[in-house]
Amino acid sequence: MNTVLEDMRDGVREDGISRAGEILRSGGLVAFPTETVYGLGANALDAGASARIYRAKGRPSDNPLIVHIAEWDAIKAITGDLPPQEKLLSDAFWPGPLTMVLKKAEAVPYATTGGLDTVAVRMPDNVIARSLILAGGGYIAAPSANTSGRPSPTTAQHVAEDMDGVIDMIIDGGPVSIGLESTIVDLTEDIPVILRPGYISREMLQQVVGPVEMDRGLSADDPSVHPKAPGMKYRHYAPKAPLFIVEGDRERVQEKINELTAAEYGAGKQAGVIATDESLGCYAHALVRSIGSRDRELTIAQHLYAILREFDLLEVSVIYSESFETPQMGTAIMNRLMKAAGHQVIFV
Ligand code: AMP
Ligand code: MG
Repeated sequence: MNTVLEDMRDGVREDGISRAGEILRSGGLVAFPTETVYGLGANALDAGASARIYRAKGRPSDNPLIVHIAEWDAIKAITGDLPPQEKLLSDAFWPGPLTMVLKKAEAVPYATTGGLDTVAVRMPDNVIARSLILAGGGYIAAPSANTSGRPSPTTAQHVAEDMDGVIDMIIDGGPVSIGLESTIVDLTEDIPVILRPGYISREMLQQVVGPVEMDRGLSADDPSVHPKAPGMKYRHYAPKAPLFIVEGDRERVQEKINELTAAEYGAGKQAGVIATDESLGCYAHALVRSIGSRDRELTIAQHLYAILREFDLLEVSVIYSESFETPQMGTAIMNRLMKAAGHQVIFV
């Protein structure tokens, strides 16, 4: 299949959007930018179109898709009775990086919800995404536009690495602004539960709706506690080389990483190090990359997936990373990094 590339780095182009909308309405696949990561879009109300997403990504069929809308009124046709928290949260955070899990209406096929009676809904903020959703019929299922298991794409080039020749169109809107997938909150129980941490933190949600819990499966290293979001149980974001997070006092972490990279160098191999702007000069015997600045946590979120992909291309033998418990997004950043590392942590 020939994958068409639409360049919208300078802004929305109506001719391109209408071609993309046409593809979506006839059951095809279009990758597009959102503020979180690039999404792989299909008509969410068309079971055949959703099935194509699973095939293109190699995604397990029990891992449900998020339905993206562009106008609040659209929610009524795809959900059952709405709990009061829904309005409070959508007023506060939509359009934006928050996904809500709600009871589904019949219009949403089980092919989209992975067989569940609930549906995940988000209204993105990115203008290309919003125009495309409207042009495509108003309901666009869109998981991250990567091959299942690989780091999520934060640029159109990342999408092309995984999806060129596999999907109908890629819209290039430049690098995304947040870089991590949306916060997912389940509103089907009395107390809202965070199923996946993101830019919108637990504290931000609590200021709007009162108590909010974290899904127990998120923090558990105990594999018998299953995460409630079906997708969270799969290994994700994994680079090709083994990745270790080194945790502890800042100086001890640097010493330990230098010791490890020196050993690798001595064995004729080259390690990769995920450092920050502040620590970039502190490492030797390795390919060292800065993920961003500890003073600007958004820069760390923005570059996490790109750095994992870069180390794949550089073919390092092993990757050592500092840890990043930053104030607002630290939970989300460490959730993704821990998954990428397969929970391998070296404590110093
Ligand atoms: P992705 O679109 O690749 O970021 O993945 C979507 C995430 O949303 C996955 O982790 C899914 O498990 C989760 N999700 C989607 N729909 C539901 C739902 N109805 N209930 C719980 N989790 C969901
Ligand atoms: Mg994904």
